[in-house]
Amino acid sequence: MENHLPEIAARHPRLFENGQAPQWSYVLPGWASLLEQLCVNLEAALPPGRRLRVVQVKEKFGGLRFYYDLVRRDGRVEDVYYHEEDETEATKAARALDRAADAGLAEALMKIKQAAENKSQELCEGCGCPSEVRREGWHTTMCPACLAAVRAEREAEREGQS
Ligand SMILES: [Zn+2]
Repeated sequence: MENHLPEIAARHPRLFENGQAPQWSYVLPGWASLLEQLCVNLEAALPPGRRLRVVQVKEKFGGLRFYYDLVRRDGRVEDVYYHEEDETEATKAARALDRAADAGLAEALMKIKQAAENKSQELCEGCGCPSEVRREGWHTTMCPACLAAVRAEREAEREGQS
């Protein structure tokens, strides 16, 4: 199945750095328009001059996962490995103010993202037909036809490798 993330990322450079899909990321055809709409909604919610940095897009436990950072007003991204004790009191205070000022925006963006993640659990990841999360050895929303197609793809890959 085709990965539609590169073309979606290229249309939304305000969310995807340089319009490029991040590492370890993909979206299959069934969720492509859901993801496109999510990107449009996030851009509409962002104030002028603000942007996101999408970190990863994938499927997990049968649902879409969309991980991102809100890029700060000074253009910096919160660093996961950042040590607060390394900062001066002044920058600490500035950071706290920044966070407080962005709290409402961060919450609005999170709600938009969660709505799309929830909706993904009602659509076949392969073709977008109405579906639900089931266990097929792993959690998936794929309809029987898409599941068979993916299994055949994997089988063909395995044979190609041996
Ligand atoms: Zn399907």
